[in-house]
Amino acid sequence: LELALAGVQQLVPYVPGKPVEELQRELGLSEVIKLASNENPLGTGAKVTAAIQATLPELTRYPDGSGFSLKTALSQKWGIAPEQITLGNGSSEILELVMRTFVAPEHDVVFSQHAFALYPILTQAVGAQARVVPAREFGHDLAAMLAAVTEKTRVVFIANPNNPTGTLLGPQDVENFIAALPVHVLCVLDEAYYEFVDPAVRTESLHWPQRYPNLIITRTFSKAYGLAGMRIGYGISSVDVADLLNRVRQPFNSNMLALAAAEAALGDAAYLEETLAVNNAGMLQLTKAFQALGLAWIPSSGNFVSVDLKQNALPIYEALLSKGVIVRPVANYEMPSHLRVSIGTERENQLFIAALREVLGNV
Ligand code: PMP
Repeated sequence: LELALAGVQQLVPYVPGKPVEELQRELGLSEVIKLASNENPLGTGAKVTAAIQATLPELTRYPDGSGFSLKTALSQKWGIAPEQITLGNGSSEILELVMRTFVAPEHDVVFSQHAFALYPILTQAVGAQARVVPAREFGHDLAAMLAAVTEKTRVVFIANPNNPTGTLLGPQDVENFIAALPVHVLCVLDEAYYEFVDPAVRTESLHWPQRYPNLIITRTFSKAYGLAGMRIGYGISSVDVADLLNRVRQPFNSNMLALAAAEAALGDAAYLEETLAVNNAGMLQLTKAFQALGLAWIPSSGNFVSVDLKQNALPIYEALLSKGVIVRPVANYEMPSHLRVSIGTERENQLFIAALREVLGNV
């Protein structure tokens, strides 16, 4: 429609994975496994289920638009002020709020090649110019990203770990980058997969916004906390940035069930621990299988891994799909020979490996 903004007209939609039930029906299979969206394979935790049940009778009311209780829990957990927090309908909404708050069509936005697919979409949606910086060994090239910043740049996205590559930047490199950024540029440090990173090499960034007022860190309950379907995430920034984002957001952007579920998830240390154990074991299981198949993969710090099939990955993706295994092709990330697979349960990983072995043997 000509009514839409030029940037919107040119948008290529974000294509989510097929729902399991739909594929199961289509293929007439008794079982379909989905390892396509970096979701938590453990299912909903008991504490979250109880919190949701306890909230159900309240649904005629609006949620607490300030998210007081969840913000209090987060601020206690992380040792930050509640006023530094912005809650969102997934961390995706925080990313979008940043763009709507700070970026106009005359600005540009810097991010890396192979970085999370939402960055180009959000940039285009506000009509701004994307400056995509070539990656180095699939990871962010911070020096080149800094060099790409101009007087028109308003936002730089850094995904750490990045999706779909799983690549990780070291704390010192990230801090040096932020310190070197001009003050007219807001750095979005997207830490959706923070919890999966080995604590020995993890960037503990949450105290940085006090030193760098042009920094916002985004985190989510979608991954390690297992609440992708609930849509709840948060930003941590200087009080000034949070104040602006909170003015722009819809008053009730985080729903009542999501707020309750997130708070319960935050208090469920055992679930998080099990998630990390399952993820570490699953990563080993998959990478060992790749090795046995003679395939290279990008070492990943997330709950997924991208494997190089050394050929066009789309036919392999389709063949896996026909066997009831949903993974993610990443051709739209300029990685045509890779498939990204999310770490599942031991059994799901096994089914994927068996299907992959079969498919590769058949081509
Ligand atoms: N950042 C990255 C790097 C991601 O991979 C994702 C989810 N795929 C998100 C942000 C957004 O997640 P959510 O909106 O569910 O918090």
